[in-house]
Amino acid sequence: MIPSFTAKSSDFQTYVDARNFIAGEYQSPLTSKETLEVLNPRYGKAIARVAMSGRDDVDAAAKAAAAAYPEWRRMPIRDRAYVFYVLRQLMVQHLEELTWLVSHENGKLYSEAKAEVEKAIECVEYGCSLPNIAAGSQLEVSRGVRCEVVYEPLGVVAGIVPFNFPCMVPFWMIPQAIVGGNAFVLKPSERVPLSMMRIAQLMKDAGLPNGVFNIVNGGREVVEALCDHEQIKAVGFVGSTKVAKLVYSRASASGKRALCLGGAKNHLIVVPDADLAVTADNVVASFTGGTGQRCMAASVMVAVGDCDHIIEAVRARAAKMVTGNDMGPVTSEAAAARIKGYIDSAERAGAKIILDGRKADPVKGGFWVGPTIIDNATTDMPAAREEIFGPVLTILRVPNLDRAIEIENASPYGNASSIYTTSGDIAQRVMQRVEAGMCGVNIGVPVPREPFGFGGWNDSLFGHGNMTGWDGYLFWTRQRKITSKWALQKDQTWMS
Ligand code: NAD
Repeated sequence: MIPSFTAKSSDFQTYVDARNFIAGEYQSPLTSKETLEVLNPRYGKAIARVAMSGRDDVDAAAKAAAAAYPEWRRMPIRDRAYVFYVLRQLMVQHLEELTWLVSHENGKLYSEAKAEVEKAIECVEYGCSLPNIAAGSQLEVSRGVRCEVVYEPLGVVAGIVPFNFPCMVPFWMIPQAIVGGNAFVLKPSERVPLSMMRIAQLMKDAGLPNGVFNIVNGGREVVEALCDHEQIKAVGFVGSTKVAKLVYSRASASGKRALCLGGAKNHLIVVPDADLAVTADNVVASFTGGTGQRCMAASVMVAVGDCDHIIEAVRARAAKMVTGNDMGPVTSEAAAARIKGYIDSAERAGAKIILDGRKADPVKGGFWVGPTIIDNATTDMPAAREEIFGPVLTILRVPNLDRAIEIENASPYGNASSIYTTSGDIAQRVMQRVEAGMCGVNIGVPVPREPFGFGGWNDSLFGHGNMTGWDGYLFWTRQRKITSKWALQKDQTWMS
């Protein structure tokens, strides 16, 4: 039994240490003695420790999942989904608690953490809807011959997730995988293992049988063991491109189905006819939301022609933000140093820092960078090319739309791209040509919500399909094709 997290504000508060959840029980690692601090980034102080697991713990979790799987897959999908109806109720009931837990372990603002938990609940709702939409199909394909397609689970499957959405990203996978009949092993980010540990209790309270959902905490060793384990049939991954590539090739090499979402460098193209207020509000929300630690965050604004009025409005709005109140900390001291390094290097190379967050320090000890805008950058600067993953907007000024699209398409990433314009023609031209899987028109964070699938292109996604919505269900299930003939009439085709 895990106690509730009782914080009611951002004031520093500790919580219980993070432990694994295997076969319905909270457990310490079998042999590993390694632990890490879970830091509240607002204060830079540990709110708990996480026990880091080894290969033997992955094996124990996979075995527990394999033991639970046969009974779970035999249950009708409606009964499996019912557990998620109850889970939804419990998550709504515990919304405040989960919100504060996400906020404390990740550092994001209360409002952002609440939106995250609400989005996780939306993903659970999609899982609840599956019995109504996963009916499969059937057709008489020849006289007296029927083909039927049914969706079946894969068996034991695993999810590996990043630090920036401790609660939402696991729920990009869990409802489709578990309602689909699989048993699941989750490897949370070692930096934010607390909210999913708490939710494991809610899943048990909702009636999920022991072993259907398991958590193994840890780092690289656990990830590699999940990729290698012969009982695990599929791996979903969300994180940086470097690790996405590693996980994709290692999991594929051992014959697993793998879908690995990576990093991003999202471009917002702005043309002079864009609506000033909509654009300025939206661009600022996109690059500062979650302190820029979102794979959908605006990173580069490509200003086409004379956009001085829009750039000034963006700067003025971002300058009003109070770091600590309107924007949270970044995840670690190393992240703050890395982000400031990008700003320093752009400045040294001749860019103009028109809003400088390098000195922000609202709470002593925390990991802070304020909203920052780098103007007059050039495409060779690391700030214009690499994922910064912080509250930094790099502005590239270009003479025309073709050059803007060329810059966007030269990026190896392809997660998101947006256009700000009041012209349907310009919007259409950009939407037809940018190399990005998730595109926005006057929307800075163009997340495709359920039932649509979430996923980028190029170096932002390795594998086939998308992570959420119906595509997620297809990833976590396989199709059985049944061809049957009962009638005795003579068929006229080669099938007779
Ligand atoms: P990360 O890649 O460092 O970590 C992700 C997971 O991989 C964690 O569970 C971590 O423990 C594990 N891991 C880290 N290094 C590893 C290694 N060498 N071998 C095996 N496993 C390893 O990512 P992060 O810093 O937690 O999250 C930020 C990144 O995630 C950003 O690049 C961001 O763009 C990306 N992200 C992408 C999406 C998307 O949908 N495309 C969504 C959220 C975050």
